[in-house]
Amino acid sequence: MPHVVTDNCRLCLFTDCVEHCPVQCFHADDERSYIDPDVCIDCGACIPACPVQAIHEVFEPDDERELLDLNKQRSHALPVISVKRSPLSSAAARRAELGF
Ligand code: SF4
Repeated sequence: MPHVVTDNCRLCLFTDCVEHCPVQCFHADDERSYIDPDVCIDCGACIPACPVQAIHEVFEPDDERELLDLNKQRSHALPVISVKRSPLSSAAARRAELGF
C-alpha cells in the first residue's frame, strides 16, 4: 500500500528518511517533505528513520485521499531530496509540540 508523509513533517524537515530510500522518491519544499507515489516501491525503510513518526503506510486509501493527493501533487512539483539536510530552526520546538 502507498506510503505518505504527514503533517508531522511540517516545520521539522529532519530528512533522515531520504537517506534510507532506495529509489529517491522524497521531494521537499521549505516546510516539509512528500513521497512520490509513482516512484515509491513501498519498502517501508523510511518509516523508522523519522524522529517524529511523520511517515506511514496507507491501508485505507479512501479514508486518506486528501493526504495521498497532497503527496502526489507536491512531489511532482518539487525537486528530489536525497541527501539529509539540517533540520529547520523550528524543528526542536515542533518535535516537542508533537510529543517526541
Ligand atoms: Fe522510499 Fe521505501 Fe519509504 Fe517508499 S517506503 S518512500 S521507497 S523508503
